[in-house]
Amino acid sequence: MRDYGDIIRRVEALLNADFRVLGEAGGYPIYGVRLSEDASRPVFFINGGTHGDEPAGVEGALAFLEADQSRWLGQLQFEVIPCLNPYGYIHETRLNGQEIDINWAFLRNDVPEIDIVRDFVKDRKFEAVVDLHEDWESPGYYLYEQFRGRLPIGREVTRRVSEVCPVNMNTTIENETAQNGVIFPNPAVERRQRGEGIPIALFQQKHTDHLLTSETPTGAPMSRRVQAHLIALETIIETHCVSLSIT
Ligand SMILES: [Zn+2]
Repeated sequence: MRDYGDIIRRVEALLNADFRVLGEAGGYPIYGVRLSEDASRPVFFINGGTHGDEPAGVEGALAFLEADQSRWLGQLQFEVIPCLNPYGYIHETRLNGQEIDINWAFLRNDVPEIDIVRDFVKDRKFEAVVDLHEDWESPGYYLYEQFRGRLPIGREVTRRVSEVCPVNMNTTIENETAQNGVIFPNPAVERRQRGEGIPIALFQQKHTDHLLTSETPTGAPMSRRVQAHLIALETIIETHCVSLSIT
């Protein structure tokens, strides 16, 4: 069993951040954290811990919040859900307390974690969404990228991540075509295999035009996996700040 109290203490100890309880699932509070200097700026949404057995997503989100991100706040605000599935995190299981894979249950109305995500995104459009995950079977880092009206940046992300963590160079990952650790997912394939996913829904329902799912290899040391998520976030944020300053 992992200690969710430790996650709560780290959230409550954050400086220069606002946090609130978005709701409860399995008897545990789910937190949302905001870094903002100006409420009119575009919002960059980071999610972690959808799958409870992927702790580097939670650690990556918290490490992001604990570091100084003030250099970006002239252009962006950040909203972070560090641990969407506390029950899974505590019990080190992929599923929630109802034994549901919440990542693929977006259409269900009986899943509290999904209700929280739906409320959180309702009537909102995010500059970008980055979902932090892990893969137990992958020999290296990879990511999924969905984009419209802009160029993809996945290759640049995996290039930079490769300096701290091996990249999965297989040409097929999770039954999808991959190149240099980048998958441009086919929603039809994903739906057929797993149902309606949170990332697919957020992108297709136009809550964002840029959604990346960052996947670290669980076999690598935790510090490298966290570092990989942080490099991915920095690369994506930097790209958005550049395009925001041009337009
Ligand atoms: Zn996952």
